Amino acid sequence: MLLLLEQRENLRRSLRTALERGELYLEYQPLIRPPSSVIGFEALLRWRHPEVGIIPPNVFIPIAEADGLMEEIGRWVLEEACRQALTWPSSLTVAVNLSPAQFLSGSLTDTIAQIIDAVGIEADRLELEITETVLLEKTIDNIDTLNTLNVLGIRISLDDFGTYYSSLSYLKNFPFDTLKIDQYFIADLETDLKSQTIVRSIMNLAHGLGINVTAEGVETSAQARWLIKENCDCLQGYFLGRPLPAEAIGDFIKRSPPRVARAMQESNRAL
Ligand code: C2E
Ligand code: MG
Ligand code: MG
Repeated sequence: MLLLLEQRENLRRSLRTALERGELYLEYQPLIRPPSSVIGFEALLRWRHPEVGIIPPNVFIPIAEADGLMEEIGRWVLEEACRQALTWPSSLTVAVNLSPAQFLSGSLTDTIAQIIDAVGIEADRLELEITETVLLEKTIDNIDTLNTLNVLGIRISLDDFGTYYSSLSYLKNFPFDTLKIDQYFIADLETDLKSQTIVRSIMNLAHGLGINVTAEGVETSAQARWLIKENCDCLQGYFLGRPLPAEAIGDFIKRSPPRVARAMQESNRAL
């Protein structure tokens, strides 16, 4: 326990300077519309710690949140991701995760409007991913914030849908562009009839409301096959492509459509 606390304290201290030392960086995971179009990438934050090595976001983001560092880090993520996206073909979107602290800061919409303006990216190429935990507090203000972002032309996704509280009132009160079904339900899709029923129902619900569905954590061709058969709009996961460093995206866009298409063709043949 003491060792853990000490480690956490060490991480906390070095996290304060990680941003200025250039230790934070983004990877980008492809979002694929069946059968084979790359429609964008999700930016995923990593920390290259000089002694510990690469630390995943689930480990350090809660520390950054607790220490009040997440607004600054989040702003950097948004700007960096938008700048990267400008180097891609203009049809591709970039999805950025928002932490609760960023969302509740009160200055989110101004910050985002400033970044979009400074970087010069079209607003509809930016997609913001929020989780339901973000929406739990201050609901009226939250809806206002989401509506303002919507008016700016930014797309909003509800991430990790199906876990947490999954309150349907969010879906009634705000027109999300996309629901991302949590990988928890995708992992055992091939064998678990309950997961199949849940995923199918979420897709019906979303489509009935005019919302797109992305399946997260697609790892196998059988999962992809099932999701395509059920009209899932977008797939994300190791089967379609792992998170990539920014430098590898150009090659992925050039080379991967045939690769993805091949995998999808195999899927189609097996249907
Ligand atoms: P998320 O937004 O749901 O991102 C998807 C996570 O699933 C990523 O983990 C990704 O690498 C992983 N993943 C993708 N495909 C597969 C798959 O086929 N199988 C499995 N097992 N995993 C897959 P990662 O990068 O470790 O990120 C974890 C979480 O940290 C993210 O979940 C997101 O909530 C948060 N996060 C990441 N970057 C940021 C950021 O810039 N800001 C904020 N606030 N949160 C972030
Ligand atoms: Mg996400
Ligand atoms: Mg997710």
